[in-house]
Amino acid sequence: AGAAVLRRQRDRESSARTYARSFPIVPVRAEGMVVEGADGRRYLDCLSGAGTLALGHNHPVVLEAIRRTLDSGAPLHVLDLATPEKDAFVEELFATLPRGLADRARIHFCGPAGTDAVEAALKLMQTATGRRGLLAFTGGYHGMTLGALAATANVAVKEPVAGIAADVTRLPYPYPYRCPFGVGGQAGARLSAAYTQRLLDDPAGGVVPPAAMIVEAVQGEGGAVPAPDSWLREMRRITAEREIPLVVDEVQTGVGRTGAFWAVEHSGIVPDVMVLSKAIGGSLPLAVIVYHEDYDGWLPGAHTGTFRGNTLAMAAGTATLRHVAREGLAGRAAEVGGRMLDRLGALRDELPVVGDVRGRGLMLGVELVDPGGEPDACGAFPAAPRTAAEVRAACLERGLIVELGGRYDSTVRLLPPLVITDEQAEAVVDRLADAVAAVTA
Ligand code: PMP
Repeated sequence: AGAAVLRRQRDRESSARTYARSFPIVPVRAEGMVVEGADGRRYLDCLSGAGTLALGHNHPVVLEAIRRTLDSGAPLHVLDLATPEKDAFVEELFATLPRGLADRARIHFCGPAGTDAVEAALKLMQTATGRRGLLAFTGGYHGMTLGALAATANVAVKEPVAGIAADVTRLPYPYPYRCPFGVGGQAGARLSAAYTQRLLDDPAGGVVPPAAMIVEAVQGEGGAVPAPDSWLREMRRITAEREIPLVVDEVQTGVGRTGAFWAVEHSGIVPDVMVLSKAIGGSLPLAVIVYHEDYDGWLPGAHTGTFRGNTLAMAAGTATLRHVAREGLAGRAAEVGGRMLDRLGALRDELPVVGDVRGRGLMLGVELVDPGGEPDACGAFPAAPRTAAEVRAACLERGLIVELGGRYDSTVRLLPPLVITDEQAEAVVDRLADAVAAVTA
């Protein structure tokens, strides 16, 4: 049955599909971190719906919330009318927000996906500032719809599209391994901040007056690259001084993943706008922006849409937010992720094909390189996308689902659920290490 499903979907679906090409499995059951295929094989899932499943698959508190809502007879879809489920979700979410934003925040329910929330954030900031430029970063990923795609950095996905707005000023994200300035770590971060400041103040810098700066505190699709806290504080200072709203895209980093409930908490910055999706819906589609009330300049009807938060997603999301907060799962992500990072670091010291190991909490990346190639000005070896694809396949053979990312598709990304057990964390590193060793033997 699995093979027939695979064949039919291959024939009938769009050529844009990606996951189906690299994972020839037909998932039929899942629980926690384990996914079972139609062939009965079991896999440890480090993809987690691209970071969506904070509590893993089918967590009892999420299932309970969905069942309770279904049984209650609550309307499942009512546009943006007030409902008890929405009220509970907003209360729970606001209780988690960084101080400084929580007490003066507004929320807007967007279309179901992260990209919808990015669109809303950019549009609201254009409305609020009357400016049309945008500051965004190398390696940044914000979605695939036209506005969000303008903010996304990856040239390969933008090139085939003719009409993307061109008012984006691309700034260097502090990516220590391949820092665009050729300097890693804190020094690179300082240079990148200095460059940003200079460029914004340079009358011949070519910067279109920006409606916002949009940034990820840890780049996800960009290859699990955490920004130094000091750098984020610099971005906050630079934007505040120039009255440029700071939009932090926490679509992937949110709800405990990086070891804090929100990734901005590590640096202590207070953004003007937070873009939230993925885990906030407890595995169902939900996306919102939360922003400072000063920016609440939309007229009624200025940004509508039919599917703005459905009842089941709000119930599942409320249960997820509550469980992550009550059980201290952000702290657990920091602890387990830290141990995994240590073990992966040892791997880097052993295996020359492992060029860099990085991440924060349970958002980890292992960048694979060609150690026989010519190192660049930063000492980084050439990326090895083919090796990475082979490692992904070798992981799958060993019962481990991982995805690739990063500039050159050469970073193995690990996004396990926050409920990962110690044994599972060990098994993930063991299987990955074994896969890398097998591919490069
Ligand atoms: N922003 C970030 C940081 C993301 O990681 C993603 C998805 N990977 C998006 C936005 C877009 O979300 P979606 O795929 O739900 O449109």
